[in-house]
Amino acid sequence: RAKSAGGNRFELADPEADARTITRHGLTTALPTALDRGEFFIEYQPLVHLGDGSVRGAEALVRWLHPQHGVLGPDRFIPLAEHTGLIVPLGRWVLEQSVRQAREWREMCGAGRACAPLRINVNLSPCQLTDPGLVRDTVEILERAGVEPDALCLEVTESALIGADDDLLKPLRRLADMGVDIALDDFGTGYSNLANLRRLPVSILKLDRSFTRGMQQFPADPVDLKIVEGIVSLAHSLDLAVTVEGVETGAQAEQLKVLGCDTAQGWYYARPGPPERLHELTLVDATG
Ligand code: C2E
Ligand code: MG
Ligand code: MG
Ligand code: MG
Repeated sequence: RAKSAGGNRFELADPEADARTITRHGLTTALPTALDRGEFFIEYQPLVHLGDGSVRGAEALVRWLHPQHGVLGPDRFIPLAEHTGLIVPLGRWVLEQSVRQAREWREMCGAGRACAPLRINVNLSPCQLTDPGLVRDTVEILERAGVEPDALCLEVTESALIGADDDLLKPLRRLADMGVDIALDDFGTGYSNLANLRRLPVSILKLDRSFTRGMQQFPADPVDLKIVEGIVSLAHSLDLAVTVEGVETGAQAEQLKVLGCDTAQGWYYARPGPPERLHELTLVDATG
């Protein structure tokens, strides 16, 4: 193709890969100062109790409003932030904003609103686990906001904890002892070493979207159903709660409820959005 374009045209083996490299480079140079420029913002996606349909909390999902490229999702810049070390201050910023937001929600619930006090889920990068300031910063952030540790859930991916030695688990254990919930995110995508679950300080399993995908069609894939059923019963026997990601249809929600999952998250309930959206959702719940 490049040849037929003729003569002295620039020859690109893979124009798309090249464009990616350029964008990537552009992002790398803009990223270190993006935090100071206030270009990050957080969207919140509700976590819904499958038993009664009430909103119980929200997951904080960071976005970057890039001056040239517009809104970028975390998949575009979290790996870069991890690579450059920005993830530690960025992660701390996300935690601080989210905990303050949780404080605001909890105050609203107290003020004559019939909603359950909302909890906040924040994603933690593996790089943050090795940051010696993690526990101290988290405690400080909670205290400064006046939020109890049990209002916070930190999500760590299963792959981040694979083969984790005790040093890596120590900060998580300390946080868990304080009452912070630790969730195992994207569960089922790695080498799920089920026996390994026992030594991790986790209290929640977040089942990856790939499991719920097979439940989108009707009838649902019977093998998927069996697998989810097995995971839920194992989790419950280990005293772990199960949250499911990527619930996009009512049929999925119904199915997951029957299978005994505790909490759900997905577009069927709400896409990630500004914090005010949670006010509306909880208000609807409280009034009917
Ligand atoms: P995650 O923690 O597994 O978050 C769930 C992702 O699934 C989010 O993507 C969310 O928007 C998306 N999602 C939710 N419901 C549905 C649905 O029904 N269907 C589909 N197809 N997708 C759904 P998002 O916001 O692009 O985030 C991607 C990943 O980036 C997150 O995966 C998380 O690992 C990471 N991330 C986001 N925020 C942060 C952060 O503050 N710090 C760190 N370290 N990682 C973050
Ligand atoms: Mg998550
Ligand atoms: Mg997840
Ligand atoms: Mg996921």
